[in-house]
This record gives sequence, structure tokens and C-alpha cells, in this order.
Amino acid sequence: RVMRIGFIGLGNMGAPMAANLATPGHEVIGFDMAPVEIDGVQMAATAAEAATGADVVITMLPNGQILRDVAAQVIPAMKPGACFADCSTVDVDSARAVAAEAEAAGLLAVDAPVSGGVGGAQAGTLTFMAGGSAPAFAVVKPLFDIMGQKAVHCGGPGAGQAAKICNNMILGVTMIATCEAFALADKLGLDREKMFDVVSTSSGYSWTMNAYCPAPGVGPTSPADNDYKPGFAAELMLKDLRLSQQAAGSADADTPMGQLAEALYATFVEEEDGRGMDFSAMLPRFEKRHRS
Ligand code: NAD
Repeated sequence: RVMRIGFIGLGNMGAPMAANLATPGHEVIGFDMAPVEIDGVQMAATAAEAATGADVVITMLPNGQILRDVAAQVIPAMKPGACFADCSTVDVDSARAVAAEAEAAGLLAVDAPVSGGVGGAQAGTLTFMAGGSAPAFAVVKPLFDIMGQKAVHCGGPGAGQAAKICNNMILGVTMIATCEAFALADKLGLDREKMFDVVSTSSGYSWTMNAYCPAPGVGPTSPADNDYKPGFAAELMLKDLRLSQQAAGSADADTPMGQLAEALYATFVEEEDGRGMDFSAMLPRFEKRHRS
């Protein structure tokens, strides 16, 4: 069925996602604060205009505060029974607040952050992790199948954001563990290729070692082989680690490794040369340092 889709937030991720929805013939009406042109996407003058008459409104915005502001404009403009689907990575509290507001207005709501990055958005191979009611998920699932290759319904409102930040907390922690182990191996005179050969098939293996090895020239091609150009930028890793620690604070969960990973990425991005680098550039950072 052809749907009318309002798409708000057409940045690095949103623009290719909206383009992919337009390709099979959905009617996509876009809005962004910045001027953008996307093949097959008609642009509206305001967020509310993009949402008017839409079956589904998708948002892909920088953070929870902006999501709340946009939702406040968009929800009153939406037709009864339509679905508000946020695909941004935001704090769990904002996701739940926006879902409650949408449901109170007679709408369906889904929080569905993604993994797969800009490459996955362009190729239509994102993974969606969704929170919300079963009927809401059923409405957006066919759209997620166009923009991605996998969509998991994780639970009620906020469950998608919870899955995303828990996954990315593990990612930040394991990347640091992999990088510091390489730095130690170097100082012990252990060849990096041998280190990879052993660890990638031993109990220290992980996605960061096996699929995204932070050592240049070792393992499959990764941002390390491209001067640590992102990939997944260190500042985006920091954003997600901060969200994990914000959630840990409000849920009273003890996450000491996540806390330390957040602190290390904050130093790397804000005080050292990590901004604009891939998050695996923690390896050269550790290489430069001594035990203090
Ligand atoms: P981006 O900064 O490229 O895009 C955000 C867009 O939102 C911009 O075009 C901006 O102009 C627009 N915008 C901001 N305020 C607005 C408003 N009030 N109304 C309308 N538009 C507004 O960011 P991105 O990389 O596309 O990321 C979007 C979201 O996806 C973020 O929450 C991010 O954490 C998440 N995410 C990003 C990646 C990635 O690799 N880039 C991967 C997974 C998830």
C-alpha cells in the first residue's frame, strides 16, 4: 500500500532514509531546518505541514530536546490513528514522554533508533530496534523493511532506545578494551597480526576485534585502514555513552565500565584530538600514552 510519509530531519541519516522510502513509490514529504533537496521527496515549509495528512511521521533528529520540540509542533497536526515514529537516538525519558503525548492525542507511537550508520542508511541495510505497541509496530514495519534489513520489536515505549544504548555501551567498552590490549601487546613486543590471529578465535574476541579491528593493516578493512576517518565518529560514541549513563542514573543501575568509557571518550573528544576521528582511534591514543 502506498503511504503518505512525513519525514522530519534530513541530515546524514535522514536524507538517504527518506530517499529509500520514495524509491518504491511512497509519497514522502520532507522537512528540515536547513535547505535540502532529495530526489523523489517533496519539501514542506514547516514540520507541521510535512505531518498534515501523513499516515506515518518519521523523525531523525539530533537529540531528545529537539525531538520534544518537533513532536509538540507535529502531533497536533497529525490525523487521528496515524503513527509517530522517531528513529533518532535520544534519551529513554524523552522517547517515553513523546510516546505518551502522541498516544494521548489518539496516535500510535514507536521509538525506533537504528544501527548501521550512514552506509547502512544509504544501502537500506539498517537495523531498527523498536519500542511501542504491537499495532504501532505493525504499521511501521513495512517501512523499516525498506530502509533496513532487520527490525526487532523490543517491547513497550522506550524499549528501542534502551536496546540501542545498552548495545552501544557494550560497543564503547569493548572498543576501549580492544585498543588498550593492542597498546599493551605492542609494548610487550607482540606482533599485531599474531595478536589478531589469536584473539579473534579465542575468548577475547568481539565485534570490535573481529569485524572492526582498530589496528591498521590487521583483520578486515576498517576505518583504521583509512587514517581513522569515520566510520562511527568518536563524538557519536560519546553521545551514546552519555545517554547510557543518563539512563543508568534515572534507572539506578550500576554501570562502572560504561561510566569509565564515557569519561575516556569525553577526554578524547573534548580535550585531545578525537573529534572527527573514528571511535577506533582510541588505539593511537593509548599508544601515545604511558602508565601514569
Ligand atoms: P545530522 O546532524 O546529520 O542530521 C540531523 C538533521 O536534523 C539536520 O539536517 C538538522 O538540520 C535537522 N534538524 C535539527 N533540528 C531540527 C528541527 N527543529 N526541525 C527540523 N530539522 C531539524 O545527524 P545524523 O547523523 O543524521 O543523525 C540523526 C540521528 O541518528 C541522531 O540522533 C544520531 O544519534 C542517530 N544516529 C546516527 C548515526 C550516524 O552514524 N550518523 C548512526 C545511528 C544513529
